[in-house]
Amino acid sequence: MEKENFLTQRAQGPDAAVPAVARLNGEYYDKTGSKRRFSVQTFGCQMNAHDSESLAGALLAMGFEPAADEKDADLVIYNTCCVRENAENRLFGNLGILKHEKERRRLNGKPGLTVALCGCMMQRDAAVEKIRRSYNHVDIIFGTFNLHRFPELLLAHMQGGGQIIDIWRESGGAPGEPEGRADIKSRQFAHKAAVNIMYGCDNFCSYCVVPYVRGRERSRTVRAVLDEVGLLAADGVKEIMLLGQNVNSYRSGENGENADFPRLLRLVDAACENTSIRRIRFMTSHPKDLSPDLISAMRDCARVCKHIHLPLQSGSTDILRLMNRRYTKESYLELINAIRAQIPDIAVTTDIIVGFPGETEDDFNETLDVARECRFSGAYTFLYSRRSGTPAAQMPDQVPPDIARQRFERLLKTLNPILLEINQGHIGETVELLVDEKSSQNGMLTGRAGWGGIVHFEGPESLIGQFVNVKITGCRTFYLFGMMI
Ligand code: SAH
Ligand code: SF4
Repeated sequence: MEKENFLTQRAQGPDAAVPAVARLNGEYYDKTGSKRRFSVQTFGCQMNAHDSESLAGALLAMGFEPAADEKDADLVIYNTCCVRENAENRLFGNLGILKHEKERRRLNGKPGLTVALCGCMMQRDAAVEKIRRSYNHVDIIFGTFNLHRFPELLLAHMQGGGQIIDIWRESGGAPGEPEGRADIKSRQFAHKAAVNIMYGCDNFCSYCVVPYVRGRERSRTVRAVLDEVGLLAADGVKEIMLLGQNVNSYRSGENGENADFPRLLRLVDAACENTSIRRIRFMTSHPKDLSPDLISAMRDCARVCKHIHLPLQSGSTDILRLMNRRYTKESYLELINAIRAQIPDIAVTTDIIVGFPGETEDDFNETLDVARECRFSGAYTFLYSRRSGTPAAQMPDQVPPDIARQRFERLLKTLNPILLEINQGHIGETVELLVDEKSSQNGMLTGRAGWGGIVHFEGPESLIGQFVNVKITGCRTFYLFGMMI
């Protein structure tokens, strides 16, 4: 089935290369009777997924159509991640496959395949150097700061430009629209959308490459955020996710609006009143910056979901210090208590890294203690991945892989039964879901509760994108079952 696409036209209008590529694609269509097709594959986080929506929007505007499968695509884009080594390895595996595909098409006299790479990994010199040396079938390489330049790079390539590499070291955008985003987005879902409120990160956690590949923190203006929310509301969107690496350090000082994140949240919530937008989420909150004001704003704003993602990373104060997280085990626990005191039914999810350099058995046991005490409703768990260029890569006492792996298994054995208990506690409740899609696994519909829980239930596909009420009838560790009422 061909995917529908949901376009959000932004104010500025398309840039000059877009119509030029569209013309070339029009000529191709006239000659061959078929449209050129694209596939964008995203590695990594929601920020990358959102960037991919901008790329897909630009491609539609340039006369491409989405390929049902990567094998049918004339243009393949990989939006890369470098937060952990395995994301990088997966990319190189995929690139190897594309090399054969390109060669196969050439030998069979088939239309060619254009390969483009972008995203965080392309901001790492060593990675780009490796691609330049060993993967010369890659046609276009660009980075995180010049996503909006993609149409120009594509045009140059189509006009016979050979391998094109264009990596910027910092954002070239105007204030308020720091990245100068592609001006049209093609959303993955009609009913929900992400809105960037800030870019970059200044925290320099000692294990993390994000500050090096996404640059310094830049906040969008309140006006820019509210305008985008207004466009989404006009489009009938029902749920929005405000995105930033650390939303708590959002600060817009322009147009007399000296807004911090709690203020922005209140303004967005107010702007959504009497619109289709009934749910507001945000990601990610750094525990060191989560203010009492934000807790009050979450409590007071009717549309803000009662869910907070609050990465713990480690339960040991010593390890947190080495990680440069700037909070302690105790202050994290106090924070969770303060949030739950104001919003008793809030769901808390987290990120945890296992095997950070210097992590002892005692340190790890403290992580397990905090996991038991906090009763997380979900956790992304990661094996520490050594990233060159970060301070942690140089630290002594790197944990041997087999010990890290064992700890990882023990962490899951602590987290998962709690998750199951939390889910069991929902059995019998009536829950409002926003229905996302039909599950490819069991053919049931899948929706999300306000707290973030995934619920499967039987129902007609016409409910996708709608709110429905279900009664929770059962659960597994990672999802629940419901029945429409
Ligand atoms: N800005 C967000 C997300 C950053 S990346 C935040 O601070 O929470 C998402 C997660 O990847 C991090 O929370 C961390 O748990 C994990 N991560 C980042 N670098 C890592 C590394 N080198 N090894 C293992 N996990 C890492
Ligand atoms: Fe990375 Fe820390 Fe910034 Fe998150 S807050 S992106 S973990 S440096």
